[in-house]
Amino acid sequence: MTGITVSRFILQCDGCDLQLGAEGTPFINAVEGRAIGYNAGWRMPCRIGVTGSPVRGSYDDVCPACLPAWTPGLTEQAKRKAARDAP
Ligand SMILES: [Zn+2]
Repeated sequence: MTGITVSRFILQCDGCDLQLGAEGTPFINAVEGRAIGYNAGWRMPCRIGVTGSPVRGSYDDVCPACLPAWTPGLTEQAKRKAARDAP
C-alpha cells in the first residue's frame, strides 16, 4: 500500500479569509504563492513584535480589498505579552 500526501500552498487573507490558489494550479511553495499573490495585488506586511517594531519573518497575508484599512497584526509572542500586560 502506498500513501500519497497531497499538500498545496494557498494564500489566505488574514482579514477576510479570502483564498488565492485554492483552485487551479497549486503553488509550488509558499514563496511562489506569495510572489503570485504580490502580482495580484496582495501584500504581506510584517507583524508587530514585542518591541513594538515590525518583525522580519512574521507576516500577515492581506488581499487587495482589505489592504486600504489594514492595520498591522501582532506576532504570537506580542499577543501573549499584550495578554499578560492587560490589567
Ligand atoms: Zn481580505
